[in-house]
Amino acid sequence: MVRSLAVMTSGGDAPGMNAGVRAVVRRALDCGLQVYGIHNGYEGLVSGGESIRPMGWNDVGGILPRGGTFLGTARSERFRAREGRLQAVRHLVALGIDALVVIGGDGSLMGAHILAEEWPSHVEMLQKEGVSEAPHALHVVGLPGSIDNDLYGTDMSIGVDTALNHIVQAIDDLTSTAASHQRTFVVETMGRHCGYLALMGALGGGASWVLVPEEELDLRWHHKMTRAIEKARAIGRPHQMVVVAEGARHPDGLPIRTEELKKILADRLGIDVRVTVLGHVQRGGAPSAFDRILATRLGVAAVDALVQAGDEPLRHMVGLQKNRVVMTPLMEVVEKSQAVGKQIDQGFYHEAQKLRGEGFIRTLELIKTLTRIEPAAATHSDGAVALLTGGADAPGMNTAVSIAARCLMNEGFPVVGVRDAFWGLIRGDFMPLEWNELTSWVNRPSSDLGTMRHDLSAEDVQRVAETIEKHHIRGLIAIGGLGTYQNVVRLVEKAPELKALAIPIVLVPATIDNNLPGTEFTIGCDTALNNIVQAIDKIRHTAGATKRTFVVEVMGRQSGFLALMAALASGAEKAYLPEKGITLAELNEDVAALRESFQCGKRMVIYLRNENASRHYTTDFISRLLEEESHGLYQVRTAILGHLQRGGVPSAFDRILASRMGSAAAREMCAMLRRDRRDVLVLGQRGRGLEVFPLAQILDEINVKQGRPKEQWFLELTAMAEALAKHAPVCRLDGSE
Ligand code: ADP
Repeated sequence: MVRSLAVMTSGGDAPGMNAGVRAVVRRALDCGLQVYGIHNGYEGLVSGGESIRPMGWNDVGGILPRGGTFLGTARSERFRAREGRLQAVRHLVALGIDALVVIGGDGSLMGAHILAEEWPSHVEMLQKEGVSEAPHALHVVGLPGSIDNDLYGTDMSIGVDTALNHIVQAIDDLTSTAASHQRTFVVETMGRHCGYLALMGALGGGASWVLVPEEELDLRWHHKMTRAIEKARAIGRPHQMVVVAEGARHPDGLPIRTEELKKILADRLGIDVRVTVLGHVQRGGAPSAFDRILATRLGVAAVDALVQAGDEPLRHMVGLQKNRVVMTPLMEVVEKSQAVGKQIDQGFYHEAQKLRGEGFIRTLELIKTLTRIEPAAATHSDGAVALLTGGADAPGMNTAVSIAARCLMNEGFPVVGVRDAFWGLIRGDFMPLEWNELTSWVNRPSSDLGTMRHDLSAEDVQRVAETIEKHHIRGLIAIGGLGTYQNVVRLVEKAPELKALAIPIVLVPATIDNNLPGTEFTIGCDTALNNIVQAIDKIRHTAGATKRTFVVEVMGRQSGFLALMAALASGAEKAYLPEKGITLAELNEDVAALRESFQCGKRMVIYLRNENASRHYTTDFISRLLEEESHGLYQVRTAILGHLQRGGVPSAFDRILASRMGSAAAREMCAMLRRDRRDVLVLGQRGRGLEVFPLAQILDEINVKQGRPKEQWFLELTAMAEALAKHAPVCRLDGSE
């Protein structure tokens, strides 16, 4: 049974590490463990003394929004030597520490593994020196912290999502200046052995070409790249972006330099080329919501594994695979992570890609398809595929339309956009979709097609059938939320009578509410979540002399996803969810908890309320109740975030999801049209894989009365969010612990 735990961050810093430390410290304290924080990585562990300090509940308060790692990180040569590690063991033994949680990259995890392996021999040595009491084993658990996403055993490492957001933001910014000057930009991302950032950045930023270490380039690669750029210019695109990972190599293994790329493009095409090396801005800044949640989930899982550990020492990394927490032996993580670099060095690119996983390979293929595609010369002239965005708008809808439409055009199927969702279908209001215009939609906020909430009546359905017939619509891709799904059901129900309605349809889940069946994530929910978390961070900045409680209302309709995940990512003390409702007894408890929090030294408390958490206990009601019961202990303020939640350019996650779904929607549509099928299909993202379901199966998964799926994976995180955000469990009323 583990009794005392130390946590540290090591290697390169990554945004989200603080959330990991917070989760480890608070969960461990809740489990009754003694907790220490090691400052400056292994260097601090070797030094001992002030570098290893006991950690209390409040020591990790307010650190969620902070980038980097507040514990500090370092590279340590001393720890690489056995003598240094003996020193480290000496300090751990002196404090009775029998478990170590290390957040870092493969080097740090390797170090942790070696330390645990050597533990018995070091302890033997210390016993000879007269040390009598020493834990017989050291349990070590690693958390993947590296912006490169080069670790085996997890789909995402802590810091990757934030870095990707910086990259797509930078590409957006460069795109606007590139377009103004008709320039081509070469953008270098981090990633010595791993092309993940370059690949996803290129996809999310709508780049024209990407170069990653895992891809074998043939001798004519210059030629292929310049031809692609030339072709894109020929079809009227004013600017180009080439994204290159810092580890990309020539066929002979030598690194590809950005200046070299500039020269190739400028010499061969006679164009104006500029180079931007993104460098350390990629690791900087406040962590994204995803990174905070990832680190929190993994931190809690690490402590839980340690608490449950038996006699056999733990030597594992906790990672997230297909949205589930998974433990992998540290040695396997290190070996397989480093194997990719070795395979690349030996020229086995195919093996390197296989080790990166299916998602990586599919994205590389998708980017190549997007680079290659162009409006087909010959088109199937018997009608067009219509694309619409339904319900409320969601960030990423434009991305999905852009990709789906271009993929269809590439296959020779004409496309049209439907204005204002089903209204456009009723009235026959269409918008021509033009290739170059579509290219620039990849990073645009909201929906340029227009959206509209409208439930189709029987008469509307009749008119939609007339429009489809009159305008020769031969397929429909509908991108939207629950209302869009329901409208499609209304059309499908009438198809036996109104033959025009029997066309192939693909539904793409897009809504900030994340309340759709068949998918764990919908297009738009990540951007909305980040908008909320950024707003709460700003609200927290106002914490000053006055003690305040904020009641923040967020969207989500009948789904508590946004409220719960925002609470988890921002450290909000409470989330009122529609799935649970609100009771008077609960409000009573919350009033008492609030008073206690302020008496225990909190200066600001945030309660999040989903807009539909309760019909009668409204945001205003709760605010007044809390104010009335404060008796001067704190003030209450309300913030209804409203439409700012759906605003702004889509996040990297939403662009990637929308790109994958857009291309899958087009692929399914083309397949149905070619085989003359009239199925109605729904796309979903489960874990990391994209799946396609028949509509009937998806309908079974909805609880129609409640307006949300029967199963919602995120609800299992409720207890975690509450436990981590509460005030110090033991406190004196003067505010100290
Ligand atoms: P990252 O964890 O980001 O991969 P590094 O590779 O620099 O970063 O590793 C961080 C630290 O982990 C190193 O400075 C060193 O102290 C320790 N470390 C790395 N590899 C080993 C090893 N093979 N043996 C012992 N310690 C190691």
